[in-house]
Amino acid sequence: MRAETVVGPTGPTSMPAGSRPLRVRVWPGLSERAALLGPGLPWPAPPAPGPDLEVPDPERLDPERLDLEALAELAEAAELRGRGGAGFPFAVKLRAVAEQAGRTGLAPVVVLNGEEGEPASAKDRVLMTLNPGLALEGLRLVAAALGAETSYAYVSDPAARERIAAAGAVWPGPGALRVVAAPSGYVSGEETAVVRWLDGGPAKPTHKPPRPYESGVAGRPTLVGNVETFAQLARLVRRRTEGDGLTVLLTVGTDRGEHVVVEVPDDRTLGDVLAWLRVDADEVLLGGFFGRFVSTGTRGRPLRELASRAHPDVLGCGIVLALHDTCPVSAVAQVLRYLDRENAEQCGPCFKGIPAMAGVADALAAGTAGAEDVQRLAGWGTSLRGRGDCGTLDAACGVVTSLLEQRADVVARHLEAPCGWCADHPERPEATAFAVPWPAEIKEER
Ligand code: SF4
Repeated sequence: MRAETVVGPTGPTSMPAGSRPLRVRVWPGLSERAALLGPGLPWPAPPAPGPDLEVPDPERLDPERLDLEALAELAEAAELRGRGGAGFPFAVKLRAVAEQAGRTGLAPVVVLNGEEGEPASAKDRVLMTLNPGLALEGLRLVAAALGAETSYAYVSDPAARERIAAAGAVWPGPGALRVVAAPSGYVSGEETAVVRWLDGGPAKPTHKPPRPYESGVAGRPTLVGNVETFAQLARLVRRRTEGDGLTVLLTVGTDRGEHVVVEVPDDRTLGDVLAWLRVDADEVLLGGFFGRFVSTGTRGRPLRELASRAHPDVLGCGIVLALHDTCPVSAVAQVLRYLDRENAEQCGPCFKGIPAMAGVADALAAGTAGAEDVQRLAGWGTSLRGRGDCGTLDAACGVVTSLLEQRADVVARHLEAPCGWCADHPERPEATAFAVPWPAEIKEER
C-alpha cells in the first residue's frame, strides 16, 4: 500500500490582506458525534466500529470484510445523494460501477472529487481542511467495497490538498492513494473532466456516453464522488445512531460579502437556516450559478427534500446566495457572463448560446430589451437544455428560465425601464463578487 502526492499547479496559500475570516457554524444541538464538521473520526479508523459506536449491522459493515450491497443499502436507506451538484443517488452509482467491473473483469477506480468549481461554494474545502480523515474514510470504504486497486484524491486548492495528503500519508489501503493537483475551474470538477485529467488530458468534459462508471480512468469503471458525499457515507457507517439523519453542508453568502459554511440536520427547512443566520433578504438564489430563485413555498421545505430533487428548487452543491441589494435581472446577467468566460469552448450550443443569452440579459438590465428579446431568451432557455457535454449550458438555461418564470414581474418592469439598482450599476459587477474569498482563515463558531 502506498500514498503519493503528485505535485502540480500551486496557488496562493496565504490570506489576502484585509480578508475576513470564513465563519463555520454547526446547527445548535447537532451532536459533535454526528457532525461532519465536528472533531471527526480517528484516522485511520479502527478495523471495526468501536464499542461506543452503534451501527445497524456491525458485522456486515466491518470495513475489512465490507459487503458492497450492505453499503449500497445503507446509502439507499439514508437517501444519500451526490453533494457536488448533480444529486444522483449514491447507491445507484455504487452498484453501477460494481456491475460494470463484474462484466469487464477490470478493477474499478475511485476518485474523491475535491474540485469545488462553483465560486460561491466553500463547504468542500472547509470539510477537507477541518476533517480530511472523514472524507478519506468514505473513499476507503468505497474502494474496499468495490475492490479498487487505485484511489485518487483530486483537489485544486493547495491548502486543502495539503491536508488531504497529510492524512492520506497513512492510507491503510486497499491499493494506492494518489493525491493529485487538479486545475481550478468551473468545469474541471465535472466527472468526465476529472477522468480526462487523470488520464493525462485537459480537464474538460467529454461527450457522454460513455460515463465514467462504464469507462473511466484508464478505461476502468470509475466512481467519481464529491468530498461531502464520501464523508456522509463514512459517518453513516461509523457513527450512525438511532434517530440521526443525514446533515447538509451549505455555503450561505450574501451580495454584501458575508459568507458562512454551516452544517444543518436535513430535516430543517431553508427558512430555519435563514432565520438562524439572521439573513432576511427577499431574494435567494439556491444552488449557486447552477441555481434557481426560490419560490415562496421553498423556504418551508426540508433540506432533505430540496437535496433529493423532489422539489423544483434544488440545493445542488448547497449554495444559498441571498441578494439583499442586487436586482435578479442583473444577477442573471452577471452569472451568464461568468459562465460564458468559463465554458470549455467545445460545444457550439454552449459557446454560442450563452453569450447570446447574456446579451439579452444585459439589455434587459439596461432597460433596452423588448418583448421579442425576452421571447427569444425563453426559447433558448428551453431549447438549448441538454445540448452541451456538461452541465454548464444547463446551468445557464436554468437561471434564465428561473428568472423568466419565477420573477416574471421583475422582468416585465425592466421592459419599461431599468430598476434603480440596474440604473445605478450600468457597469455590472462581476459574478465573482458573489464568490467566497479564498484562501481564508477558518473561524469555527460553536
Ligand atoms: S457544455 Fe459548454 S462548458 Fe460544457 S463541455 Fe460543452 S462547451 Fe464546455
